[in-house]
Amino acid sequence: MGPVAEQQGLPISSVGTGKECLTRAEAFKIYHELSQELDGYEYQGVGYLLLLEPGSLEYWEKQCRLYDELGKPYQFLTKAEMVGRWPSLELSEQTTGLFDPLGGYSEPDRYIPALAVRNRQLGVEIRERQQVTGLLSQGGKVTGVRTTQGDLEADTVVCTVHIWTLRLLEELKLQLPMKAFVHQRYLTEPLPEPVEIPAAGWGETYFRPAEGSRILAGLSTPERGEYPVDSSEFHMSELTASEKLQQELRQQVEEVLPCLKQVAWEEARVGLLSYSGDYEPILGPLKQVPGLYVAACFHSNGFAYNPISGRLLAEYVADGRTSINIDLYSPDRFGEEETRRFLAEPITQGQALEMRPY
Ligand SMILES: Cc1cc2nc3c(=O)[nH]c(=O)nc-3n(C[C@H](O)[C@H](O)[C@H](O)COP(=O)(O)OP(=O)(O)OC[C@H]3O[C@@H](n4cnc5c(N)ncnc54)[C@H](O)[C@@H]3O)c2cc1C
Repeated sequence: MGPVAEQQGLPISSVGTGKECLTRAEAFKIYHELSQELDGYEYQGVGYLLLLEPGSLEYWEKQCRLYDELGKPYQFLTKAEMVGRWPSLELSEQTTGLFDPLGGYSEPDRYIPALAVRNRQLGVEIRERQQVTGLLSQGGKVTGVRTTQGDLEADTVVCTVHIWTLRLLEELKLQLPMKAFVHQRYLTEPLPEPVEIPAAGWGETYFRPAEGSRILAGLSTPERGEYPVDSSEFHMSELTASEKLQQELRQQVEEVLPCLKQVAWEEARVGLLSYSGDYEPILGPLKQVPGLYVAACFHSNGFAYNPISGRLLAEYVADGRTSINIDLYSPDRFGEEETRRFLAEPITQGQALEMRPY
């Protein structure tokens, strides 16, 4: 299996509700620490600009009262303020932006290899291209994993295998409410001149600057049905995105960022996003199976969660509890019947997005 995270492009933001934005804000602090610690990696803190849909201003103003309580920085920006700051943007008079100065992006092709190097320096053994084919258990407790290259015994197993989690847990007769949807993003060839832009998003569309004076953009497709992953042998390379989608994306982004017209797409990447039964990630111990932890369903914001998820899981394993209360993400929050129903009923990505609390 290949490190899928390496394939993605990543505008990230701490915009969200309550705990979510607290955990994400912690993630950004860790990105800044990692920028000091990892060789060849730097978090790109260009900020994240949410372009507000007409009629949603009132909702976000209310939301920001919560940000005030949490001490999370933000700014509402008018069209003139946004264009004054980022002259490449073309916005209508009525557009309002909610700017998250902590946001930005983490270039995955730099971040993941730099993390791997540092982990190895610290004595962590990373085995790549070694598929876990099952979980070892004794007396109801998970005691290790079976891999294509032999068994590995362990006091604790942390399962972080995205939608493949469903197939891995089957053997233990465990189910979690997880659904997957195809997602696509595109990278342009280099622009004639670099442009200064934040990472930005509206509706289901986003863009951000990328290395080498490029622009990265992507969109979700609410009308698309879920993508069932019936086999642990499934690989993301099986997925495709239609020509029509990249045209639709280009049209949408060009309206806001006309300099995109100067360049063609150089690369497209397609993968799956996964959503839980209530949209929030699933992260923590499974009470009914001692020794097993799960971290999955980071929807389209995996990179806003990943450093803090790692820290929280390490705290769980080392101390038995986390420094931030994350009951909200507990795998045990879903009832058996609720999970069975969620898995049985096909839904569209739009329906999954409707569960989003913001
Ligand atoms: C096109 C695209 C663009 C995206 N853009 C963004 C973005 O801009 N910002 C953002 O925050 N998020 C983005 N995401 C989402 C982000 O990539 C995910 O949320 C994140 O990668 C999920 O992390 P994960 O660790 O759960 O899964 P993954 O990153 O998929 O990692 C799971 C790993 O487990 C491996 N694996 C699976 N089964 C086994 C097994 N049996 N044994 C061993 N290994 C196994 C897989 O090969 C994979 O390497 C995007 C996703 C896509 C598809």
